[in-house]
Amino acid sequence: MSRFWTDKIASLDPYVPGEQPQDKKYIKLNTNESPYSPSPKALEAMAAEVSERLRLYPDPNGVALKNALAKSYQLEANQVFVGNGSDEVLALAFMGYFAGGKPLAFADITYSFYKVYAGLYSIEPKLIPLNDHFDIVPADYENLDVSGVVVTNPNAPTGKALPLSDIETILKANPDVVVLVDEAYVDFGAQSAVSLINHYPNLLVVQTLSKSRALAGIRVGYALGHPDLIEGLERLKNSFNSYPIDRIALAGATAAVQDEMYLKEICDKTIATREQSVKELEALGFSIVPSATNFIFATHPDKDAEQIYLALKEQGILVRYFGKKPRIGNYLRITIGTDEEMSALTAALKTL
Ligand code: PMP
Repeated sequence: MSRFWTDKIASLDPYVPGEQPQDKKYIKLNTNESPYSPSPKALEAMAAEVSERLRLYPDPNGVALKNALAKSYQLEANQVFVGNGSDEVLALAFMGYFAGGKPLAFADITYSFYKVYAGLYSIEPKLIPLNDHFDIVPADYENLDVSGVVVTNPNAPTGKALPLSDIETILKANPDVVVLVDEAYVDFGAQSAVSLINHYPNLLVVQTLSKSRALAGIRVGYALGHPDLIEGLERLKNSFNSYPIDRIALAGATAAVQDEMYLKEICDKTIATREQSVKELEALGFSIVPSATNFIFATHPDKDAEQIYLALKEQGILVRYFGKKPRIGNYLRITIGTDEEMSALTAALKTL
């Protein structure tokens, strides 16, 4: 018999994250984690926090982390919001700024969580197609009648970046709604919109410590924007859980943000490995979308992406295959690992 709650559960269509199999040790190139250790300073700070202090609640406002982020981006602390992974920050922004009215605009090929949040908050997605080269076309974001716009820069899973002038075009065309720029991968070679924050009160930039700072395990993300937008997110957060970030994560995140040298070091390494991997995969006949991220989006004209994905898995290498979807059904998204991991990948691909 159908009950109210069974229908409710059936109507939820949750996000399916990349596999995290525990059966054996894989070379994991499927969920865009960093192959490098977090900053040694962050590890030290977290180890120090594992102490009698854990009997106390964490700082509900995350002041030390906000101050570190504000300093790093040359903003004021009231322009910074911190949350439990950028997924939580995105969820709060969707609830606070996009729900309750018109459709929300975002690209047809992008981070699939947006559709999930939209469904959760009864927001109708207004999907704007990427062009034939997987580019976001700014002119398509003009004259929209929407509750907001989400732009992913660089985009995922394509890896393509948008110049700042295009982000400005989109901001100017949508002055009365929030334009959320999801910059999860920005540190790997794209231009950040943070420099526009003081010019556009409708701009909310969302970033994460999960990728470039190699801290996916502690779940810390943040939003940067006008103090009024940040205040709105604070109010929402406090209505659900005033302590979204635990003491250990706060300590590690703060130290990681302060360690800018280490951030640069591991991003530079990832970018160098990416460029090398692109060359090697192209030599094997793959076609690669130009990437400004820590992953590449690759297709082979004569080979089936699902077969490659399965064969690599057999050989202990995990990459991301999204299923037989339109346009991206023959693509694989491959996270950039260490040089050794990428050599293992090319060696395996040569055997296929
Ligand atoms: N945005 C994009 C575009 C992503 O790919 C991801 C990670 N899968 C996230 C946000 C969420 O990252 P996190 O919750 O780890 O901060």
